[in-house]
Amino acid sequence: MNLQIEYIRYRRPFSKPLKTRYGTWRFREGVLVRLGDGLGRWGLGEIAPLEGFGSETLEQAETFCREIGGGISPEGVDGIPETLPCCRFAFESALQDLRRQPAGLPVAGPAVLPVAGLISGGTDAVSEAKRLSAQGFRTLKWKVGVRSFARERESFLRLVEAVPPGIRWRLDANGALDFRAAEKWGSFLDGSSVEFFEQPLPPSRTEELLRLAHSFPVPLGLDESVGTLRSLWQWNERGWPGIFVVKPALAGSPRALLSLVQQGGMRVVFSSALETAVGMKHALSVAAAANTGNRAVGWGTSAFFGRDGLSPDWGSIIHGQQIDGLATEPVWAWVTK
Ligand code: MG
Repeated sequence: MNLQIEYIRYRRPFSKPLKTRYGTWRFREGVLVRLGDGLGRWGLGEIAPLEGFGSETLEQAETFCREIGGGISPEGVDGIPETLPCCRFAFESALQDLRRQPAGLPVAGPAVLPVAGLISGGTDAVSEAKRLSAQGFRTLKWKVGVRSFARERESFLRLVEAVPPGIRWRLDANGALDFRAAEKWGSFLDGSSVEFFEQPLPPSRTEELLRLAHSFPVPLGLDESVGTLRSLWQWNERGWPGIFVVKPALAGSPRALLSLVQQGGMRVVFSSALETAVGMKHALSVAAAANTGNRAVGWGTSAFFGRDGLSPDWGSIIHGQQIDGLATEPVWAWVTK
């Protein structure tokens, strides 16, 4: 049976322009898709590529939607190629959404997911860290590789001093360091309780990343290196000894992701791709089902968009019922109005 398809591109302004290594982003753009069964029921999904993670571009995704615009069968969804991982994520999750509706099946059930608080790159990182820890966040993430090592080392010491002991720290370089700079961080962090150090080198530095991971005093995390299911699988085969930071909205099939993570016994941190509530509901349901212990998920992202109503402002814990109750229809209504 062919399912009806509707899709529409959206453009959601960031609350303040986001500086990335690919330039300054003023909008988060993506495509919402919905699949209809012809009986008035619709399932929603979201295509939300991010540059630098190895997925298709938004334009390629739109071309795919246009080409299959007349309808798609459930088998057709399973056949979406791995070169279009964001499309696969969106269509497979829309199909799941559609199938759950008649029975009212829960998405996430009884899961309890701690959330990592993200300290944005502003000048007042110390007061932000204090505010987040006062709000109950027990894991905090801070971006490095932006200023000199010496300045960042001093800033980090101030941050650690400003919050109660027992806070878990994650440092994320977004691939901005070279091997020597990463080694400097390694010597500095020797004996520290940092939870992990994320993506010190660019994804192209495969051998150096592996070498570094075996000598680094705290676990290393891969993020940009493992954007898609294929790259995640490859790094697992290489015997990566650290953490995998996975954004389900970019990875591809949610079912395949879940089985890879569970069968591979991988240490995974699930994370946002700055989706609306539509993609977020499906991505968080993967995180909830994977049950990856007490590692906080990376959905402390509300500051990027302010209160525009298109995604919730999570606190320090996400409960499964909140994921189940996440309203996605208003996002479709906003995009199509
Ligand atoms: Mg990262």
